[in-house]
Amino acid sequence: MKNRILTLTLAAAMLPVGLHFGVEAAKKQPGKVKTQKLAVPRPGATEKGFIDTLMSQMTLAEKLGQLNLPTSDDIVTGEAQNSNIGQRVASGDVGGVFNIKGVSKIKDLQRVAVEESRLGIPLIFGMDVIHGYETVFPIPLALSMTWDMDDIEKSARIAAGEASAAGISWTFSPMVDISREPRWGRVSEGNGEDPYLGSQIAKAMVRGYQGDLSRNDNIMACVKHFALYGAPEAGRDYNTVDMSRQRMFNDYFPPYKAGAEAGAGSFMTSFNTVDGVPATGNKWLLTDVLRDQWGWDGFVVTDFTAIQEMTEHGMGDLEDCSVLALKAGTDMDMVSEGFTGTIPRALQEGRVSEADVDKAVRRVLEAKWKLGLFHDPYKYTDLKREKTEIYTQANRDEARRIAAKSFVLLKNEGGILPLQKKGKIALVGPLANTAANMPGTWAVAADASKYKTVLQGMRDAVGDKAEILYAKGANLTADSVLEARATMFGREMRDSRSEQEMLDEALRVAREADVIVAAVGESSEFSGESSSRTDLTLPDTQKRLMEALLATGKPVVMLNFSGRPTVMEWESENVPAIMNVWFAGSETGDAISDVVFGDKSPSGKLTMTMPRNVGQIPIYYNHLNTGRPLPQGTGDFVKFRSSYIDSSSLPLYPFGYGLSYTDFKYSDLSLSSETLPMDGELTASVTVTNTGSREGDEVVQMYVRDLVGSVSRPVKELKGFERISLKPGESRRVEFKLTPADLKFYDFNLDYVNEPGDYLLFIGPDSATGLTAPFTQKKKKK
Ligand code: BGC
Repeated sequence: MKNRILTLTLAAAMLPVGLHFGVEAAKKQPGKVKTQKLAVPRPGATEKGFIDTLMSQMTLAEKLGQLNLPTSDDIVTGEAQNSNIGQRVASGDVGGVFNIKGVSKIKDLQRVAVEESRLGIPLIFGMDVIHGYETVFPIPLALSMTWDMDDIEKSARIAAGEASAAGISWTFSPMVDISREPRWGRVSEGNGEDPYLGSQIAKAMVRGYQGDLSRNDNIMACVKHFALYGAPEAGRDYNTVDMSRQRMFNDYFPPYKAGAEAGAGSFMTSFNTVDGVPATGNKWLLTDVLRDQWGWDGFVVTDFTAIQEMTEHGMGDLEDCSVLALKAGTDMDMVSEGFTGTIPRALQEGRVSEADVDKAVRRVLEAKWKLGLFHDPYKYTDLKREKTEIYTQANRDEARRIAAKSFVLLKNEGGILPLQKKGKIALVGPLANTAANMPGTWAVAADASKYKTVLQGMRDAVGDKAEILYAKGANLTADSVLEARATMFGREMRDSRSEQEMLDEALRVAREADVIVAAVGESSEFSGESSSRTDLTLPDTQKRLMEALLATGKPVVMLNFSGRPTVMEWESENVPAIMNVWFAGSETGDAISDVVFGDKSPSGKLTMTMPRNVGQIPIYYNHLNTGRPLPQGTGDFVKFRSSYIDSSSLPLYPFGYGLSYTDFKYSDLSLSSETLPMDGELTASVTVTNTGSREGDEVVQMYVRDLVGSVSRPVKELKGFERISLKPGESRRVEFKLTPADLKFYDFNLDYVNEPGDYLLFIGPDSATGLTAPFTQKKKKK
């Protein structure tokens, strides 16, 4: 088996399919002969005509090359032409590469593809541009907390603008995996637990990235990770996923489907199994559902080495897994070299057909056509744009504005926040004076050396009106092994002083100040890929720091940095003001200052439930009722009811929750009718009043409960939301339309049905509070 891959790679180069040019042409040395430029469309060429002709010229090796997406590691420093990848590109062995930063390198490699490979087919350049390029927006989970689809779309548009100016034509985003599992580090990359909100975000992101692909500042999106990656058992990354198909279709699939319907050009498979078969080799998933049921026609790329990993899943050797993947509907192989390495033999053995290969090749070529790369392979490699369109002041202003909207104020006892710009303010904590963490996970192109720390942001904000004192106060954790793992990518923050020394310094600073701001929590590498945690509380040293700061008796504001919902039961009982600031991107320092000093009012709302303890996980708002529920809104133990003997079963903070510096009152919920005809609609309206003394934004949320169904239905489901801005004393009537289509769900047979009957409608500030009205969905009269 060991030498098989090598042998098969050679075999691939020699096996012509529909051969028009000889083997010798395919093996031509790079740089020797100029190409015949077969991959340049003649004026007026149609997509199909052009691709048909091009494919008729391709050898098998060249076809498989188009399905191959290797890494680009060795040209990060060197020249494309002399690198291994350059030689492979010249020999037609590569369809795209990913995560190269910088136009000159990308242009160089594209030149090799276009000028030195036999057919001159341009490469597609991918990158993990997940929440911004060099102008970094909040991590996706935080972005979702804005509930602002226009801003989310804008963030993707700006990311596309910068990435395209840097030579990138394809982003591995949006990640739309629903998750109820905060132990899983990758919740930071997703949009939380709700399928409806997740679907709106998927659409907004795809629109933002792709817009009009004929332009050179839009790029192709990749919806990932298909599918169900967000439900790993025990929250451990890459772990088994197993769920009913009904749950897949109702709760986990909707955002992928929304991304497909929004026209995303590509999908990425997930690492996990779906109903026992790894996603990358799952025909039911990739063909029956994605293509046949949803009518999607883009191309599917695997996740990193996912074909190879199917061997570990127990699906056979690399050839077996490559066959499975190709036949299932996977088109492009990221890094495994399974297609280039084993498909030629599989073809000889009759395990795959030429048509299987052609199907995939066509999809990849279609994507390149859609991007306009055949017409202009250098469309994205404009050195001038790279200099002028990245990390611009205008982009940074947008990132700052949007970051401020993503913070979630969880508690504000006695209105400590906002702080006044006067007196002495102590800023303490391991996250206070480092910008290294601000970009958060998966920010490949970030340059944290350019970003402000919270300390710099606050000092700039107060000028000479107030004094900001600073002490680090604690290392991230006393556990040096954990800290090393959580600062793995050079985000070193460890201070060599003893814990006591650091604490003493912090207390000296704190005692001198009028108010204390504690910048504490996780480092960015505590979340993200391969960063699952079993303990979600504030780490040891930082908890001791918080206790000591509280013991001074001074008012304490906690800024909690995290890539996930953390466990904050102790904090919610003891710390007077808590604001979750996640990892808010390149403009974090200024955005935090904007909110802390009241230039802006916080308006973020949780898109994932915050648990009281790890034992409650998975905890989510749209659960089923069970046959022994506790009375609504209660969480205390009741014998023989669904509850815990050692904990409340209510969340610490529910889905949708978040405070403002002002208060909002909800009143006068009314429905246009008590019945919703099967072919009609219903309007629900409510008055929201700003009863406080500041201007503020509120996210008004509408939920529905289907009281009787052919299958048990969730206790609440989000069906609409609107973000509004109100001046002090101002009221607004907010309206939501509801149609029968909004009430459809997948039944036992996976039919998408509408079941007439009784419903409850809720409108409120979060998923746990609000006003309620009943209505009935009427059957159509015969
Ligand atoms: C991740 C993907 C990412 C890919 C390429 C994988 O490890 O799971 O989300 O897009 O690497 O960098």
